[in-house]
Amino acid sequence: MSTSQLARSIKESPTLILNETAARLREKGEPVIHLGGGEPKSKAPIDAVVNCASQLNSGDVKYAPADGLPALKKAIIRYMEEHYHKLVSPDNLVISSGAKQSIMVLLYTILEPKDEVIFPAPYWVSYPEIVKLAGGLPVVVTPEDGSFQPTIAEIDEVVGPYTKAIILNSPNNPSGIMYPKDFIAGMVELCEKKNLYLIMDDLYNRLVFDGKIPPNVYDFARDQTDHSKLVVVQGVSKMYAMTGFRIGWGVVNRELAEAMTNIQSHQTSGPATPSQWAAIGALNGVQSGLESLRLTLENNRNVMVERLRAFDGVHVTKPDGTFYCFPDFSAYEKNSQKLSEFLLEKVRVVTVPGKEFGMDGHLRLSFCGSIKDVTEGIERIQWALDPNAPNELYLGERKLVRDWM
Ligand code: PMP
Repeated sequence: MSTSQLARSIKESPTLILNETAARLREKGEPVIHLGGGEPKSKAPIDAVVNCASQLNSGDVKYAPADGLPALKKAIIRYMEEHYHKLVSPDNLVISSGAKQSIMVLLYTILEPKDEVIFPAPYWVSYPEIVKLAGGLPVVVTPEDGSFQPTIAEIDEVVGPYTKAIILNSPNNPSGIMYPKDFIAGMVELCEKKNLYLIMDDLYNRLVFDGKIPPNVYDFARDQTDHSKLVVVQGVSKMYAMTGFRIGWGVVNRELAEAMTNIQSHQTSGPATPSQWAAIGALNGVQSGLESLRLTLENNRNVMVERLRAFDGVHVTKPDGTFYCFPDFSAYEKNSQKLSEFLLEKVRVVTVPGKEFGMDGHLRLSFCGSIKDVTEGIERIQWALDPNAPNELYLGERKLVRDWM
């Protein structure tokens, strides 16, 4: 059997491979610490569960409209008003099976073959593959100064006749940094001037720390008409710890919404109805769970950064939000794949190689697990890498002796 050229061009999801490896090791009784995760540990909000369960009890579970249930659109309209001060109409919303599908359907809708989509490194692992699946070419901008913050000039430089869209994810997976107001304003201006789609992947923008407020992209848009090429992507996965429900949405102009709905109607139809009921419950319900998740993550972030800063040779940029930290380990090992495999083999800590996010030498460490995982995970990494660490380490009952330095 032969697979298509397209299929061969798509990489396996590195995070899913890591999850499988970690699960296999755990099954064998290995004391694995997972710092590679991409979802909060907390439970879905009770309002999500109750709303879903009570409707499910009726046994009446039918197709939803291809662009989503009107009641969920209503809840999203309220959300957009509250958090973006933006009045959107139901015709501006397409609800999909996760923000991943929102981005996928959007790119199917706007890209001609070989159109280019620009995004800065480090980037979410799926952007290059989603762009390729939609027939486009990914164009990565790596900040020259070694930071996680590109300049507008660096992005402007790669805009060419085939550029169709720019994707920004802030706060960012994997770096955790939030792009500043001036940068977002400049990007809106650039995209309006050059007639490009600006896709704001705002999935993590409720999980922000230190009292910071994420810039609201609509504040900078001169084009407030229904022809605007500004797109906001949001979803319930991260902020409500509802990854398994698979609900995300795109806020787009009417013409785009119609075209996206057509495509989605042939692809998956509307998202699963029970998941939409759950999302309605989450959006309309008590919001205290979100704040408590945010506070837990902020505390975990503080502990992780503090531990990493005590680690000679590791350069760490403090995340402004999300549940990821992206330290630079290149003083120890420049090849992040090799380093990640080494840490799993020697001290049973799962990390994600920076290479997958377009920046080798770094590792993505998640702090969405327990505080014990964070402290013990970093302790084990330090023990494995730092020549000044004591020679022995206990993993549960097992004594490890370092024999590789
Ligand atoms: N964008 C970013 C930056 C993400 O990290 C993720 C999930 N890891 C998604 C989009 C997709 O989220 P969803 O679960 O809603 O498909």
